[in-house]
Amino acid sequence: MRLSQMLFVTLREDPAEAEIPSHKLLLRAGYIRRIGSGVYAYLPLMWRVLKKVTQIVREEMDATGAQECLLPQIQPAELWQESGRWDTYKAEGILFNLKDRQGRELGLGPTHEEVITAVARDMIRSYRQLPLHLYQVQTKFRDEIRPRFGLMRGREFIMKDGYSFHSDVESLKETYGQMYQAYTNILRRSGLTFRAVEADSGAIGGSGSHEFMVLADAGEDEVLYTEDGKYAANVEKAIALPPEAVASAFTTGEVKDTPNANTIEALCQQLGCDATTIVKNVLYQATFDNGQLVLVLVSIRGDQAVNEVKLVNELSKVAADYKAKTVLTVAIADTETQSQWAASPLPVGYLGPDLADSLIQAKPNVAPKFLRLADQTVVELKNFVTGANTPHQHLVGANWGSSLTLAKAVDVRKATAGDRAAHDPTQLLKTARGIEIGHIFQLGTKYSAALGATFATEQGEESPLVMGCYGVGVSRLAQAAVEQSHDKDGIIWPVAIAPYHAIVVIPNLKEATQVEAAEQIYQDLNAAGIETLLDDRDERPGVKFKDSELIGIPYRVVTGRSLAQGKVEVVKRADKTAVEIPITELVATLKAWIAEAVQ
Ligand code: ATP
Ligand code: MG
Repeated sequence: MRLSQMLFVTLREDPAEAEIPSHKLLLRAGYIRRIGSGVYAYLPLMWRVLKKVTQIVREEMDATGAQECLLPQIQPAELWQESGRWDTYKAEGILFNLKDRQGRELGLGPTHEEVITAVARDMIRSYRQLPLHLYQVQTKFRDEIRPRFGLMRGREFIMKDGYSFHSDVESLKETYGQMYQAYTNILRRSGLTFRAVEADSGAIGGSGSHEFMVLADAGEDEVLYTEDGKYAANVEKAIALPPEAVASAFTTGEVKDTPNANTIEALCQQLGCDATTIVKNVLYQATFDNGQLVLVLVSIRGDQAVNEVKLVNELSKVAADYKAKTVLTVAIADTETQSQWAASPLPVGYLGPDLADSLIQAKPNVAPKFLRLADQTVVELKNFVTGANTPHQHLVGANWGSSLTLAKAVDVRKATAGDRAAHDPTQLLKTARGIEIGHIFQLGTKYSAALGATFATEQGEESPLVMGCYGVGVSRLAQAAVEQSHDKDGIIWPVAIAPYHAIVVIPNLKEATQVEAAEQIYQDLNAAGIETLLDDRDERPGVKFKDSELIGIPYRVVTGRSLAQGKVEVVKRADKTAVEIPITELVATLKAWIAEAVQ
């Protein structure tokens, strides 16, 4: 392609709309253009990158025996009502939904479990058809609360999503293992540095979920890992051993005045105690899908924080107790939300594990009792400090027993950097930022059971299909590559996903020999399968060099002074090293470099 004929517009200045390097660079280099919030046009250079990423994804998926298909983006509400996700996804606001001219409700696909399960319900009859794995590469729609960072969090983005069906968990695990390997290959071949981490698998539980994280400061996820390489998990999921608690100095139980000590810090200061000797009680307000409001009182050690993802998982487990299927929202009950249910003002900052249920107004949609949960960190505490349920007062030297009942013990603690690893307490957890590029998930029978997608087992019984799902963000991956690989002058594309391999720059269009040599090289390289651009614009050499660096093409060929010796200058974008190469050896040299870079 000739730059003179391309839609090629680069910007010298950073666009105001972009915060992180990759977003700035993709805009400046003319790869993408913002059309609306979280909605981008993929311009020709970007589209080539996306096609290359997709090609790698396809090759790795096909190699596992998965089959490509294309599912509809317009999805009937009924399917989502069967799975129970229509209301939750609408309440969360993530689902773009619309009505057709007959007044029927439709959603724009944010993901395709429902659709694929409906296909499986209709078409899979027998264990003989299993296992089966279908995937697609398609635009997804999600009305994200905070679309940002360009393609990283779009409201319309490209995803490869795959769904596998099995007769048993063993077969699912086998495919899951293959996907783990395929995703590892996809990211490695795309030239990314990444880490596979244990991920939250929601209320479904089990150990079957991993995220593939590209490590970068701009990442929206936090990864906790150990240096021995044996443990890495999303902070949402991570488990670890908290620091040991200090022995409490209080030996007798009594109520103490603690004026204005409504924070852990103030309390520690006033009582001269350690935060690990405090039982902190955090009040949450949970809304279930049937509209039921439940007040959840979580007791946790004073130095620790609640992991709300773990909390939601615990609440999902007890949804049936409230005649609900799932939890819609969980939030700290603040002064404002309390007015919806509290019979009298709560002693916020002084709550005890035995906060009286009579504080809850009798209302049909409000559970009459607190759901009390005790994080594991408080179970063993002795002579602890906790709220006395009266403003400006705390209990000291308290113990679990008849007056302070220890609630159901759960793990809702947020692991943090510095915690001791569960597999080896001498290893301390470290933290890193990650961009979630892929997510593989052992779903089990959640969707097949809900939609009635069953198959006949070898014994002739009807059983729900066992499922897995596997997603990789194609457009997010492409931008993550830039986030990981750039310098002050622009993008440094990994060769495997660069829009072009080489760019031939003619420094001076007025020099016929330069033009002639460049035209010939341009032809020869393309003919040899080296994807090549020709910068034949009537611009100063400095502008051309700057642009070639900005757009990040791996190899720049310059038809300059050395032409007299039958040579051209070749500059590697990654390290800017320049070498003079005889024109006769150019094709072979570039081919060898590309082959070496694209492993
Ligand atoms: P996140 O936690 O970042 O919102 P997710 O867990 O909701 O992502 P999945 O449903 O697991 O995402 O989707 C699979 C992949 O699709 C993700 O790993 C990510 O690479 C990509 N993806 C998800 N949401 C977006 C988005 N808004 N923009 C671009 N890519 C996305
Ligand atoms: Mg995910």
